Amino acid sequence: MALNIVLLGPPGAGKGTQAERLAARLQVPRVSTGDLLREAVAQGTPLGGLVRAVMARGALVGDDLMVEVVRERLGRPDAAAGFVLDGFPRTVPQAEALDALLAGRGPLTVVEIRVPEQELIRRLGARLVCGACGVNATPEAAAAGRCGRCGGGLVQRADDGAEVVRERLRVFARETQPLIAFYRARSWYREVNGAAAPDEVFADLARVVAEAGR
Ligand SMILES: [Zn+2]
Repeated sequence: MALNIVLLGPPGAGKGTQAERLAARLQVPRVSTGDLLREAVAQGTPLGGLVRAVMARGALVGDDLMVEVVRERLGRPDAAAGFVLDGFPRTVPQAEALDALLAGRGPLTVVEIRVPEQELIRRLGARLVCGACGVNATPEAAAAGRCGRCGGGLVQRADDGAEVVRERLRVFARETQPLIAFYRARSWYREVNGAAAPDEVFADLARVVAEAGR
């Protein structure tokens, strides 16, 4: 039984680390598209040449090229028993292409690491303050969404960093919403609570993947 796994999650969810641990546990490669693109460019393969040309223009690598890079990677012998994909698919066309790539290779398991926005903002370095008394929010207060001193509501400290983080999360949510909807409706799909401690998240992840493999 192949272990074909896709991990989804927003920036700050710890997806890369969890993908690494899960791949080690399952003894399949972690396939990170960020690493793949860097590797293709560094090795100067024909595919890497195309990637380099796109990047040199300052453009994003399009669906077709990204699918080719992933197809090449999943075709290598070490991925025959499965893989943990991290960073792919990002779009519905990429997800459809992945389905086609996996024809005859066993089912796909998709796990989304979900983390509340407030927690992501905290992790990504944005600071929250109490709107009533102005005290800096502790991690516990941020998790609870209330000031630990007076119980007041928390607000974003007005600085560029926080706004950049929120915008990054908004863009991610907008871009991945169709993909999440696609997988919720179509594939074996599970969620884990990414707000928990990393070891707990990993235990949860390993459990849902083991259930999928039965
Ligand atoms: Zn307060």
